[in-house]
Amino acid sequence: DDSIGEKLVELAKRRGYFFQSSGAYGGVGGFYTFGPQGAALKGNVEDAWRDRFAVAEGNMEIDAPTIMPEPVFEASGHLDGFDDMLVECPDCGESHRADHIVEDNTEYEDAESLPIPEVEEVIAEYELVCPNCGAGLAGQAVETFNLMFGTNIGPGDSQPGYLRPETAQGIFVEFPRLKEYARNQLPFGVTQIGRAYRNEISPRRSIIRTREFTQAELEFFIDPETDEPDLSAVADVEVRLYPASEQNVEDGEEIRTTIGDAVAEGVIASPWVAYFLGVAKRWYDAVGVDMDRFRFRQHLSGERAHYASDCWDAEGELDGNWIELAGFSDRGDYDLSKHAAHSEDRFTVFRQYDEPKTVERATVDPDMSYLGPEFGGDAQAVVSELETLAERDRAAFEGDSVTIDLDGESHELPTEKTGFAVEEQTEAGEHIIPHVIEPSFGVDRLVYTVLHHAYREDEVDGEDRTYLELDPEVAPTFVGVFPLQNDDELEATANDIVADLRDAGLSVTYDDSGNIGRRYRRQDEVGTPFCVTVDYETLEEREAQRASDTASGDAPRAEATTVTVRERDTTAQKRLPVSDLPELMADLRAG
Ligand code: ATP
Repeated sequence: DDSIGEKLVELAKRRGYFFQSSGAYGGVGGFYTFGPQGAALKGNVEDAWRDRFAVAEGNMEIDAPTIMPEPVFEASGHLDGFDDMLVECPDCGESHRADHIVEDNTEYEDAESLPIPEVEEVIAEYELVCPNCGAGLAGQAVETFNLMFGTNIGPGDSQPGYLRPETAQGIFVEFPRLKEYARNQLPFGVTQIGRAYRNEISPRRSIIRTREFTQAELEFFIDPETDEPDLSAVADVEVRLYPASEQNVEDGEEIRTTIGDAVAEGVIASPWVAYFLGVAKRWYDAVGVDMDRFRFRQHLSGERAHYASDCWDAEGELDGNWIELAGFSDRGDYDLSKHAAHSEDRFTVFRQYDEPKTVERATVDPDMSYLGPEFGGDAQAVVSELETLAERDRAAFEGDSVTIDLDGESHELPTEKTGFAVEEQTEAGEHIIPHVIEPSFGVDRLVYTVLHHAYREDEVDGEDRTYLELDPEVAPTFVGVFPLQNDDELEATANDIVADLRDAGLSVTYDDSGNIGRRYRRQDEVGTPFCVTVDYETLEEREAQRASDTASGDAPRAEATTVTVRERDTTAQKRLPVSDLPELMADLRAG
C-alpha cells in the first residue's frame, strides 16, 4: 500500500492543491505551484496566522523586499555560516546532504553538528551509498555549500544581492524605523508573511523541502531585564515536550506537562519561548493539525542556528517521520548587535531608569591634538583608545604612564597628558539593544501537514471513498452547489443559491457535470464541508406554493422551498429551507 503522503501528492495534483512547477519544461526540483484549492487553503492558513500572531497579539505586520544587498547578509552571518554539507555521487553525479545520509542510515541523530572529517569517516565506516544509484560514497569529499541564491542588483556585478533565506532580516534591518512606530516602547512585535529562498542541496518530500517557500515570522523585541510574558494566558495549555538530553546531543525523554509547569520546572528556559509555544499549540490545533501527532522538541547543540541560544521546534508526524513545522528561538541581541556594528544606524531603545541615577564616569581630555605628530597625525585614534581604557580599567591610570595599543604597536603616554578624570553624572536611563524572541513558521509544510492529517478513507454505500476532513475555517471551498440534473429550472435555482451564498462571503463552487454521486466524491476529495443539491422536490414545493398563493388571491410570496444539504464527514443529508442557507452556512463557517 502507498503511504498517505504518496496518495496525498497524487490527490493534490488531481484536485488542484499543488504540483511541481514548470512541468511543460520537464519540471525543476524544489519548486511547486499551488493550484486553485491549494492557493485558497494556503491563503486561509495565512489569514488565520495573521489573525492570531499579528492582530490578536497586537503586533505590527510589514512587507519587505525579497532581495537584499550583500552587506545585510555579511552582518547577519548568512554569507559565512548558512551552509549545508554536500557530498556528490562519483557515479551518477547527484548531490546529497551528507548529514541526512548519515542520519538516515546510522544511529547518529545530529550529524549536522559533526565536523566534516568525521562525517567523511562515518560515510566510509558504514559504507554509505548514493540514495539515487547505490554507488558507494566512501572516499568522496564532503564540502560546505552556501544555501543562498545570489543575484546582481542593477547592471554589472558591482552590487551583489541575495534572495532572502528567511523573512526575518527584512524586519531586523528596519528596526531603527520600526521602533519609532512602536513609540520606542518595548516589548513590541513585528510580523511578516512572505517568500524565502534556499538553494537546498536535495529538495524532497514535495512541498516539505523546497527551494522557494513561504514563512510566517514574528520577531518579538523585549527588554531582557524587565519584560515578562503573561504566562497565565497559556499556563494550562497541555504540551508534549522532548527536551534535549543532558549532553545536548540526542533527544531526551518525552514529558507530558503544561506550559506553566514546564516553565516552573525549568524544562523550558525562556518564559517568552514558552509563551509562544503555548499560543502556537492552540493555533495549530485550531487550523487542523492532529494533536496526537504533534510535539515540541528542543534543538540539540549542533542543530541550533548560528544565532540561537535556545530553540524548540514544533513538529508534526507524517507517515512515521517527525517534520519540523516551526522553530521558536531566543535569538538574544545577536541580530540587532550585528546590524548595529555593520551599519550606521542605531539599533537601541532607551531604557528609562525608575529614578535618575548618579554615576561615575571616567573621561579623558578629548582635545589631544598635541599628540598628533607623535602618532602619525591620528590623535582621534589615541583619544578613543584612552576612552575605552578609562571605561574598562581605571587602575591603568594610577601610575605615571599609560600603555595603549595602536595598530598592533604599544605606546606609553605620561598619565598627566591624558587629562584623565572621574566625573559624576546624572543619567535618566540607558540605551540597550533589545533581545529577540522568534517564532518562525513554515507555511508550506503546515499546508502539507493539515492535508495529511485530514486525509481519510472509508466506504460509503459499498464504494471506497477518500475525503479530507479539513477544518471549515481553512477549507478552500466551503460549499458545493449542484442542480440534480441538467434542467433549466434546477440550474437557475442553483445559480441563485450560489449568488446568495457568495454574497454571504462564502467560497462556493458550482458543479453540474457528471452524476450526483461523482460530484459528491469530487467535493469530498477537495475537503468541501457541505454540498447543497437542488432537486425536483425543490421545484415541486415551489409549484405547490405558487398554486396555493394564486388560489388564495395572495401576491406570490418569497419562496419557502427546501434543498438537500449534505455533510462531508458523515454524508448525512437533511432538507433545509433555501432562505435560511446564507445565514446557516456563514454560522457554520465561523464555527
Ligand atoms: P530544516 O532543518 O528543515 O532545513 P531549518 O531549521 O533550517 O529547517 P528554519 O531556518 O528554522 O528551518 O526555518 C523556519 C521554518 O521555515 C521551518 O520550521 C520550516 O517550516 C520552514 N522551512 C525551512 N526550510 C524550508 C524549505 N526548504 N522548504 C519549506 N519550508 C522550509
